[in-house]
Amino acid sequence: MHTFEFIRPANQAEAIATSAQSKTAQQGADVRFLGGGTTLIDLMKLNVETPARLVDINRLPLDKIEETRDGGLRIGATVRNSDLANHAQVQHDYSVLSQALLQGASAQIRNMATVGGNLLQRTRCVYFRDTAMACNKREPGSGCPAITGHNRTLAILGASEHCIATNPSDMCVALAALEATVHIQGSKGSRAVAFGDFHLLPGDTPHRETVLEPGDLITDVTLPPPIAGSKQVYLKLRDRASYEFALASAAVVVTMGSGKITRARIALGGVGTKPWRSSEAEAALTGKPANEGTFRQAAEAALRHAKPQSENKFKIELAKRCVMHSLRMATTA
Ligand SMILES: Cc1cc2nc3c(=O)[nH]c(=O)nc-3n(C[C@H](O)[C@H](O)[C@H](O)COP(=O)(O)OP(=O)(O)OC[C@H]3O[C@@H](n4cnc5c(N)ncnc54)[C@H](O)[C@@H]3O)c2cc1C
Ligand code: SF4
Repeated sequence: MHTFEFIRPANQAEAIATSAQSKTAQQGADVRFLGGGTTLIDLMKLNVETPARLVDINRLPLDKIEETRDGGLRIGATVRNSDLANHAQVQHDYSVLSQALLQGASAQIRNMATVGGNLLQRTRCVYFRDTAMACNKREPGSGCPAITGHNRTLAILGASEHCIATNPSDMCVALAALEATVHIQGSKGSRAVAFGDFHLLPGDTPHRETVLEPGDLITDVTLPPPIAGSKQVYLKLRDRASYEFALASAAVVVTMGSGKITRARIALGGVGTKPWRSSEAEAALTGKPANEGTFRQAAEAALRHAKPQSENKFKIELAKRCVMHSLRMATTA
């Protein structure tokens, strides 16, 4: 691993000012914040990330979970994934988030991993993690060997001719369905970004994954007030039962009334280049009876624009069945 300077800032302003000296907040950043390190240190060992400075944010006061004035929830950026998953209010009111977190990684990794770091975890595409290979995300313009190579686990939604990498996060799929907001403090002030706008599609700039600029520190994520009477399910399908990323997953938040679905929020994981909210599936469900025909229509709508690669056509039907089964679970629980 290359050498780097380790910085423990006295406060948030110092952390932001140091990070603002980086030339980018995307791939190739020369200053990085350090959360739990479970993504960043791995990639530094592989020389995929080579920051000259690491700014440790673990002692900043960003580790609280508290109610917001409007009855929602504010989750600090350094809250550990395990603390969030086991928080009583999260389990009661936002159970899809707890379920998603507990199906991610291992207990040890969840004890280290932070909310901010999970939002920014990187793809598991094998070419991205191997500096001997070309990769447009790691080295813009070098090519994308995954398109003709190993792409079984890669994306079928949101891909471009420059990158087909999957966003691997489970937590983010639940946050998409819960309509979270990401709060950012930068050198020019603070801003709030709707969850669906935080991650970027690869297009012709796959090295740009989020809206973050140099100096931008994620301070917290907020959730809107809980939806009374909603049923929530996170279903993750993968090659083995634990310690494995999703081939397809679905986060479902539905409310029923008079035998019909009155409100639905649906997001998919393991299939998109970003956490994939499906407004098409939501529209297909709203006002309809909760039955197999409705679930199939929602699943078809969610995957209508799917474009498979040479090895991952199976994901289309897998993702459809994942959506249908999670809806079955949510409406019969
Ligand atoms: C073996 C293994 C298995 C895994 N399995 C799963 C799985 O099944 N599902 C799943 O969802 N995830 C899985 N993960 C990924 C894991 O969830 C992430 O590594 C973790 O959430 C990252 O959090 P962190 O705090 O360790 O991030 P770090 O490694 O500390 O940081 C990641 C990135 O975020 C940046 N960053 C961190 N905090 C902030 C902030 N507040 N503001 C701005 N930038 C910030 C860092 O600079 C870095 O670029 C797995 C990881 C491993 C190693
Ligand atoms: S899919 Fe994206 S991350 Fe993977 S090799 Fe292609 S450009 Fe790189």
